[in-house]
Amino acid sequence: MAVTPRGAARLRAGHVWVYRSDVNAGDGLPPGALVRVLDARGKPLGTAFYSSASQIALRFLTAEPVSAEQIDSLLRERLRGAFRYREQVVRDSSACRLVFSEADGLPGLIVDRYGEVAVLQALTQAWDQAERKQLVVDVLCEVGGIKSVVERVEPRIRELEQLPVSAGGLLHGTKASTTYTMNGVNFHYQATGGQKTGAFLDQRENYTATENHARGRALDVFCYQGGFALHLARRSSAVTAVDSSRPALETAEQNESLNRNEGRPEIEWMEANAFDLLKDYAAAGKQYETIVLDPPAFAKSKRELESAVRGYKELNLRAMKMLAPGGTLITCSCSYHLPEADFQTMLASAAADTRRIMRIVEKRGQAKDHPVSLAIPETSYLKCFILQG
Ligand code: SAH
Repeated sequence: MAVTPRGAARLRAGHVWVYRSDVNAGDGLPPGALVRVLDARGKPLGTAFYSSASQIALRFLTAEPVSAEQIDSLLRERLRGAFRYREQVVRDSSACRLVFSEADGLPGLIVDRYGEVAVLQALTQAWDQAERKQLVVDVLCEVGGIKSVVERVEPRIRELEQLPVSAGGLLHGTKASTTYTMNGVNFHYQATGGQKTGAFLDQRENYTATENHARGRALDVFCYQGGFALHLARRSSAVTAVDSSRPALETAEQNESLNRNEGRPEIEWMEANAFDLLKDYAAAGKQYETIVLDPPAFAKSKRELESAVRGYKELNLRAMKMLAPGGTLITCSCSYHLPEADFQTMLASAAADTRRIMRIVEKRGQAKDHPVSLAIPETSYLKCFILQG
């Protein structure tokens, strides 16, 4: 399949996506096909997976020509390479991201590990094929300690790829729930059933950094299942954690019971809208030595950026007001569309409005098991600034 000069330039620069507007009609190619990619003059560029539905028509795999017979061994090798990399970079945790799509040379595939359970997400037509999922399962079973493989589906992504509705579920083994540890903190995981859970594994290293800075009274805003709060409890005198989701808070409380320890404060879990709560608490003059802000992605597209920045600023402004002198604010954004420099500008503007001098103690990103590909900016999305007032 031939790509336009713009598509070819993108691939030559190391990116792996070719948009539909940069391919010359793929009509007739089966969904998820393995295709040879050529430039406009017919010169071979390499091999890619094709999608008949997505705006991303090609996801490039390699500059080598790869036949249908050879593709499995290439994918197996990439999977094993991804697993070896995690062995090098993940410490003190039985949960991590084993495969991060483009950043592992496996575009369209995500695999997370929660102790004995591996969770696979096939985000493209190519990865949704049964034999290909089986290949992933087979290689996962070579990894020590994995007993079950569960498929997780996102209905919206299946719709975009024009894949049939599917509920996901167990692909291998029988175990769909388990407990796992991150940095020595225990968590529940349940892959199927009413209360499906999953963690924000990309924050794993930021949890440790937060624990190292934590002291005094701590507030975890957007706490979900307690990732930050449980780490804060190991170093703080009191912890309040807020989320608007009741099911998330219920799991958070169960996670707390897995970590009971004399001398640690009992966490106060609060179901509330974070914007309202911060407004009330700031007005009431509440003070904290440690505050974590980890909101959901407010900017899901470029269009939403302006209102997203307003939302981030409001939260950060209120948190800075409530920060005790010398206190630490750990503030995050997982919006890819908000670049780090703009996040920093927003924080500076919030600090200026509160007339506080804030210093940057650490600028952090996603954990190393969510690697950033140098040539693929979309693989870098999480910002985590540790500020001291
Ligand atoms: N800090 C968490 C991840 C946060 S994900 C961790 O480390 O695991 C974002 C969370 O924000 C979700 O749990 C969601 O329920 C919650 N949320 C979204 N909008 C909210 C709002 N307006 N007020 C409070 N919580 C909200």
